Amino acid sequence: EGVSRRSPESRILVFVRLRPMGKKEKEAGSRCCVRIVNRRDVYLTEFANDNDYLRLKRLRGRHFTFDASFPDTTSQQQVYSTTTAELVEAVLQGRNGSVFCYGATGAGKTYTMLGTLENPGVMVLAIKDLFRKIRQRSCDGNHVVHLSYLEVYNETVRDLLSPGRPLVLREDKQGIVAAGLTQYRAYSTDEVMALLQQGNRSRTTEPTRANETSSRSHAILQVVVEYRIRDDAMSVVNRVGKLSLIDLAGSERALATDQRTLRSLEGANINRSLLALSSCINALVEGKKHIPYRNSKLTQLLKDSLGGACNTVMIANISPSNLSFGETQNTLHWADRAKQI
Ligand code: ADP
Ligand code: MG
Repeated sequence: EGVSRRSPESRILVFVRLRPMGKKEKEAGSRCCVRIVNRRDVYLTEFANDNDYLRLKRLRGRHFTFDASFPDTTSQQQVYSTTTAELVEAVLQGRNGSVFCYGATGAGKTYTMLGTLENPGVMVLAIKDLFRKIRQRSCDGNHVVHLSYLEVYNETVRDLLSPGRPLVLREDKQGIVAAGLTQYRAYSTDEVMALLQQGNRSRTTEPTRANETSSRSHAILQVVVEYRIRDDAMSVVNRVGKLSLIDLAGSERALATDQRTLRSLEGANINRSLLALSSCINALVEGKKHIPYRNSKLTQLLKDSLGGACNTVMIANISPSNLSFGETQNTLHWADRAKQI
């Protein structure tokens, strides 16, 4: 059930994933304000915030349509197959690609990207599929897979596979690289889930909530696949593809301050990288020649994986609860805009 790209030039696909209603939301008596129809259409309903249940009435509705929209019954495997499987195939052909999960804190980004041991997410399913595809190809060369997993928090880049001092970004012949970043050579899927879970536990936590990952942390998994041809004595790298899978910071803060310029936000501890990503997407939407990749660590790291000949996928995560109406509306507007690239 692949999704066809609208045109050869259009390199971005936008998806929406609705998560099930959570326990706390049910207990708070929330109502479902999102409806997904025909696997594409999203209807958002605003209710009058009236305490009298019988008078709770529909205010207005809005309709959006995306490349595909996933209702809360959609499995991790279905999300992977529809959004990312094609990019894994492209990476084997030497093409770069990136998959972003965007949305407010609690909307389901980490569940979609990392998932749980019982229900592994896109990161794990992509690597599993990659190894399966490599095994199927018995050519006269071999594939080498390297993983790196890093975090951008407060414009500081850290290695999640080997936590320690912040990493410095450098520009070299291959583009922008994080100096000293662990390149983990992966041989099988089994080791990967444990590795990623461990890495995720190394993400920055909010000082006040010790066990919860900070909503301002971006996690980036980069999977580099080299295809080497053996040439008598030497092994020559023939083709390289890179897939970036990104669990973005919560979008709520960035959206609240969207109007202000990056400069004025510098001291304000606002998520510069998320705003810079939006600016790059806006510039791509408007077909600008200059894309402002240099404005943040996140966009520098993704320079070779965003725009141009790359495949880009956005998964906008939303909650069904009317208590999150505002955030859901903002997320859908943002996703609707990204669709125009
Ligand atoms: P985020 O990373 O966007 O802050 P999480 O992925 O941590 O949000 O999701 C918040 C909660 O909702 C978690 O307890 C998670 O397990 C649950 N959840 C999210 N999406 C789903 C889903 N599709 N199915 C079941 N549970 C989900
Ligand atoms: Mg998360």
